[in-house]
Amino acid sequence: MLRSTFLCALCFTSLSAAQRDLFYRDPDAVHALACKPDEDQCYINWHKSINVGGKVETLLAPNNTDSTDFSSGLAALRQIVDQVASEGRRIKAFGSTWSLSNVAYTEEVMINSQGLTYCKVGIDDESHVTAAFKDIRNRLAIVQAGMMVRDVHQALKVKNLALSTTGAGDGQRFAGAISTGTHGSALHYGAMQEFVRALHIVIPGEHVLLQRSTDPVITDAFGVWMDGTRVISDDTLFDAAVVSFGSFGIIHALIIEAEPLYELKFQSKQFNYGQVRPVLQSLDPSSLGFKGIGSEMPFHFEIAINPYRRNQDGCFVRLFEKVTLSNEEFRVQQESGMLDAYDPEDTDLFEAVGQAFKPAMGLLPTPLLRRLVFGRGVQFALRRVFQTKARREQGQTKKPYEWFTFKGAHDPATKSPVPGTGLEIGVPVDRVVEAIELIFAIVDSDPLAAPIAIRFIKKSRATLAFTKYDLTASIEISGPYDRGAFRRQIKTRNQIFETLAANGLPHTYHWGQNFPVNDEWVRNAFEADVDVWKDARSNFLGDSIDIFSNDLLEQIGLYP
Ligand SMILES: Cc1cc2nc3c(=O)[nH]c(=O)nc-3n(C[C@H](O)[C@H](O)[C@H](O)COP(=O)(O)OP(=O)(O)OC[C@H]3O[C@@H](n4cnc5c(N)ncnc54)[C@H](O)[C@@H]3O)c2cc1C
Repeated sequence: MLRSTFLCALCFTSLSAAQRDLFYRDPDAVHALACKPDEDQCYINWHKSINVGGKVETLLAPNNTDSTDFSSGLAALRQIVDQVASEGRRIKAFGSTWSLSNVAYTEEVMINSQGLTYCKVGIDDESHVTAAFKDIRNRLAIVQAGMMVRDVHQALKVKNLALSTTGAGDGQRFAGAISTGTHGSALHYGAMQEFVRALHIVIPGEHVLLQRSTDPVITDAFGVWMDGTRVISDDTLFDAAVVSFGSFGIIHALIIEAEPLYELKFQSKQFNYGQVRPVLQSLDPSSLGFKGIGSEMPFHFEIAINPYRRNQDGCFVRLFEKVTLSNEEFRVQQESGMLDAYDPEDTDLFEAVGQAFKPAMGLLPTPLLRRLVFGRGVQFALRRVFQTKARREQGQTKKPYEWFTFKGAHDPATKSPVPGTGLEIGVPVDRVVEAIELIFAIVDSDPLAAPIAIRFIKKSRATLAFTKYDLTASIEISGPYDRGAFRRQIKTRNQIFETLAANGLPHTYHWGQNFPVNDEWVRNAFEADVDVWKDARSNFLGDSIDIFSNDLLEQIGLYP
């Protein structure tokens, strides 16, 4: 903290009077406003979220000089990390910049991972994997940090493989997605970090491969092949590092385990809150009348609620059943070119909500007007995403990468007319009704231009995973938020943070979304696991610990 206060004091002297005034009202704003969106030495996130990012002293973008080999990219990372360490500066890497907080940001040195796109599906040499993985080594893949989730899907599908889960979109880079615990609604599987088998990390003076000791996958021989990396098998270290938002070093690559290619059968419908409330309590979807769905939850189940029309068909449910694809079906689809056809037309919730609102809507003077107009916008966005009125979509079967994608995901510029933000609250599933009803009470009197979307994720082993409960219900609220028309949205979002804390309801926040910048919620959410994570980090990094720290880590009590 001392360090950032000192640096801030230095930059404070160079501020104009207006900027100083702003600093007193909103300290983070000065930082973020110091940057123009088209400036080179700047970090701005994909959604241009306010108070995220700012100037960067050194911005680097290492590449592989040979796309069929990782060694040049790895060597470049090693050189950068050693140089930064020798200068005693701080460094963070970023992926697609989709995170909605300063989790990826430092003003000192930043690495753009997007040029690190080596990917190899299958480990050829038997001696590179442990006995348990010999027969399925064709399902392991070595994925460099900057591979986009979409591109990993494409590399896997031609080998009859798929990722076990992803987020709703596929524009994140691999290291970025894993580092914050990106998830979908895989009730029986979990979040993306669950398929990570080893992490290849660059730290000063060396590069290491971390894996679990209780479930090791790779051997020292693999380490030799990977340019002489040291293999460390340690459950505590791996579980702490896998979701650590860049705080354990620069991730060069990940070893992941894919599964046989599958398809997902889609259904969606609209309901009133009175119909979905009992399902949220019992997790028995049979009363909803979906074809072929009994009392068991399917592979993916999701509810998005328009709080202002919740009793007028404003609760949208979509589900996906997992359908296996036989080898014969795969062969036929591959030969007929069906696996190539892939043109994302749909939108995801972030994008649809962003597009549903015009700046003028944020200026509506009364809560009644805002409820009416926001209710209309949210309903429009949810209908687009959940496709409840598209008869031809109902019962359709597609590959996971065809569902969980959207056109704008691969475009670095946001499509929203105003900057956006999002938050995701994780609660134990048996408290989800209580949590959303607390949120209803807040947004009823001070409306947010956002739906309340609920997904369900199995418990993660990662020490600081926000999906930490046996079954976590994640409550997502994303929508426009700017310094002009939509600025009052922050008040409502803060009220949600405060209300959850005051009610003693167990909860966590998604690391890749916006969250309260204080150390209380982190300690309350993760209790003694905070110390387990901090100890694992300091034992691993030793004197280099400060290099991979940033202001946010200090503000939320994870460093020192
Ligand atoms: C449109 C949109 C849709 C989204 N949908 C979902 C969703 O469905 N489910 C969900 O769970 N989340 C979702 N999110 C959140 C998003 O998945 C996470 O914020 C994710 O971390 C972003 O990945 P990224 O590649 O942009 O990483 P960044 O935001 O660039 O970085 C994320 C973190 O990873 C670290 N990092 C990145 N690369 C490296 C590296 N090489 N070495 C070390 N650390 C690194 C960064 O320092 C940072 O701490 C969504 C966000 C947006 C904007």
